[in-house]
Amino acid sequence: MVRTLRESSITTYTLQCLSDFEDAYQRRINELTARRNQARKIVGTFCLFVPDEIIYAAGADRVILCGGRNATVSLAEEYLPRNICPLVKSSFGSVVSTECSGGDACPHFNLIDMVVAEATCDAKKKMYELLNEYIPTYVIDLPQKPDSPAGIAYYTVQLEQFTDAMEGLTGTLITDDRLRREIKSANETRSLLHRLYELRRRDPPPIRGLDVLTVLQKQFFLSPEELRRILRQLCDEAERKPNEGARKPRIMISGCPMAGGNIKVPKIIEDRGGVIVVEESCTGTRAFWNLVDEHKDPLRAIAERYMQIPCSCMTPNEWRTEHIRELVERFNVDGVVYYTLQSCHAYNIERFRVQQALKETHTPLLAIETDYSDSDVEQIATRVDAFMEMIASSP
Ligand code: SF4
Ligand code: SF4
Repeated sequence: MVRTLRESSITTYTLQCLSDFEDAYQRRINELTARRNQARKIVGTFCLFVPDEIIYAAGADRVILCGGRNATVSLAEEYLPRNICPLVKSSFGSVVSTECSGGDACPHFNLIDMVVAEATCDAKKKMYELLNEYIPTYVIDLPQKPDSPAGIAYYTVQLEQFTDAMEGLTGTLITDDRLRREIKSANETRSLLHRLYELRRRDPPPIRGLDVLTVLQKQFFLSPEELRRILRQLCDEAERKPNEGARKPRIMISGCPMAGGNIKVPKIIEDRGGVIVVEESCTGTRAFWNLVDEHKDPLRAIAERYMQIPCSCMTPNEWRTEHIRELVERFNVDGVVYYTLQSCHAYNIERFRVQQALKETHTPLLAIETDYSDSDVEQIATRVDAFMEMIASSP
């Protein structure tokens, strides 16, 4: 029998305040609808390389559009090749479903005035060209070698142009003061996420990985104020929670983003007895680890911070392996599940470097390459079981 994810849905949270969070999605949709009716501009984004600070400084709002659901993949395959990453297909499928069939696959698309995309992987870049036929799509170009001074200078120029585009959209001048205010706000959110992750260093941690993921998947969908309110509640409750319960294998997930709707692998890991203590992911540390320097020229400081995101689309990406090693030590990780989406060449190829780095620290790695369907749930569960047993029997 093939086990499906729907057999045991997440119904109980490790912390009470998360129940309060259940209707956050609908509340946000209502809020965005009201804002749009008041002529506020709303942009949709797909990637960490699009700085929120600039969007908010222009007086606009933003929502994340990354698709994590299998339901929209087959529709996208009528337009896109099958052998590209499911995140790209799911995202595009949400658009064509809404635009062409009148469905409600992604209610966000009906709310946005413009997509702000970025030149990262080939699949996304080419998908954005098609997306532009449905909704105006502005693409921020990115340097490929982010460590070089020329790379940061180039990205700063791209951000200046993006600033102009946002001013054109909203009619609001983006002053340095407005940028500084938004930098401070975004840093405050990042600091709260650090506070939450510090709590996960406890053994056992006071919160499940799946519960953290529930929040992280909505971090770029909610308003910054609402996200911070939830994070403060979470941290306060987790800090009060007594250290109790049996020790479980402490797992890090590293690799491709886990967009909203995609919980397959984390759920299997925690259903099979592990606890996820950290995610080296865009739905994890990549989104918040570094702060923007509040004392520098604001646009340059934003450029420097965002160029430190250790995304596999960049080359070289040495900082990522260093960061993974640092996280393994900091969170006392017993094993790493290296998670890649099918046809994501960048993260797939980088696995080799990560595996080499982890061998030096004697940290076991389980590589899982998958899509959004349930067809391999049983097979992944068997491999995760063996991985847990191996960790449990290690000295
Ligand atoms: S993996 Fe890279 S390209 Fe994909 S969302 Fe994250 S930062 Fe952007
Ligand atoms: S997971 Fe990989 S292939 Fe998919 S959008 Fe991100 S970088 Fe591109």
